[in-house]
Parts: sequence; structure tokens; C-alpha cells
Amino acid sequence: MIETYDLLLIDLDGVVWRGLKPIERNVEAIRKLCGRDVKIIFVTNNATKSRRTYAELLSRMLDLKISEKDVMCSGYAISNWLLNRYGKVNVYPIGEEGLIEELSKAGHRVIDGKMIDKVEAVVVSLDRTLTYRKLEYAHEAITKYNAIFTATNQDHVIPISSGTAPGAGAIIASLVKSTGVKPIFTAGKPNPYMANLILKRLKHSRRRVLVVGDRCDTDVAFASNAKLDSLLVMTGVTGTIASSKYKPTYIAKDLLEFMEKS
Ligand SMILES: [Mg+2]
Repeated sequence: MIETYDLLLIDLDGVVWRGLKPIERNVEAIRKLCGRDVKIIFVTNNATKSRRTYAELLSRMLDLKISEKDVMCSGYAISNWLLNRYGKVNVYPIGEEGLIEELSKAGHRVIDGKMIDKVEAVVVSLDRTLTYRKLEYAHEAITKYNAIFTATNQDHVIPISSGTAPGAGAIIASLVKSTGVKPIFTAGKPNPYMANLILKRLKHSRRRVLVVGDRCDTDVAFASNAKLDSLLVMTGVTGTIASSKYKPTYIAKDLLEFMEKS
């Protein structure tokens, strides 16, 4: 089966690693695939790191040369979306270094709380240094200065080595509650935006593309929304498949099992 695809869009958290600890059987499968005639792009909703940092981490872990172009993340995607829609804007981010790097690289001006009246867009993401003050600034920018409210992704939880922890969606929910406003755009999966960016850049059709992920509500839904095939692996936060309205094309314990079955 795997031979029928020439472009794989592989999720990171819960597929390549769990809290940056490699998931060995998937990593082994990816190493094998890299020697074959198949293009791999790593696609993640996690915006805490930039494409550059992900490429460095992946190169080291896989012992292969992975470049920034081989990675798509929601921090890059939202920066790209803002640029295409509004040009370069003043952004107040709730997020970590990786998001700030992607916003700056796209030419946006990242603004701190002292200049909140200048903010044109708020971008909310996973921020493990979140404070009440940051929520206050974002709330003020949205309610008082009419900044547009956007998000990198809506994942409720993130997988960590001991289980799960609150994700970007949990932070967004608190701002939705306080402002009464919902994000006008969320770049990450299940929105097909990142898939469309990749296909456009590679000039690739929707055929012969396989999305590999660990979640029905994000990865499989993303594939379905982008009209791509999907493989669900059981190495991450897979919920019950029966309860999801999105059904994967294939299910396997892990990527190596899927390749061996093929
Ligand atoms: Mg995942």
C-alpha cells in the first residue's frame, strides 16, 4: 500500500516523538522511507518551535538531512495566512519562541503588551509560560482595539511522556469565553490550509498523498478536509475511532507495521 503514495505528510507529536522522546518503530519506518522514492513533509500543529528548530531536531533524531522546507507547522501557516490576507501586521502573540520566530520571518511586527493599542492581530497558540497578564493583553487588543483574533491550532491537549497536558485549544477557550469572540481563522489541522500550502508549493496533485497521524479529530479530519488518504497510528493520543465522524483510510499499530503489511 505504501508504494502507491509518493508524498507523505507525517505528524510529529504522537507519531515521531512523544514529548521529544522518539517513538522508535515510527522513527525506524521513516528512516527506511527516506531511502525510497517518496517525499516526506513533517506537518505539525505544534507552534512552540519554528520550522528551523524542527528541522534541526529531526535531522539529529533521524540521522538524515532534514531542511526547513521539509517541515510545515501551524506557526508558519498562520504567519503566511496573515501576510496573504492583510500584508505585514502588528501582532500580539500568545505563544512560544517558535511562533515569534515564524511571525518575524514573515515580516510581521511582534508587539509586547505595552503597545497593545497598536495591535492589529492576536495569534493564540500553545504557551507554556502563559500568565494572566498575557490573557489580559490579548483580551484588551480584541475587545478594545478591534484586533482580529486568530489561532495556530485548536488541539485540546498535547501528548507528553506521562500522558496529556492542556493544549492551545484550552488557552483559546478562555479568550473565547472572556471576549465573546471566536477566532476568525485557525491555521492548523483539521483546517486543510497547511496541506494546500504544501501541495501548491510542490505542485503536487491530491492523488498519491498519504497523511499519517495519531488523531481522528485533527489528522484524519485534516486529510478528509483536504481530500487526501490517511493512516491512523496508535502511538499517540488516539481516541475512540468509533466516536469520530472522520474515518481513516487505514489503521495500523504503527508506521512500521503498516509498511510490513503493505
Ligand atoms: Mg499528533
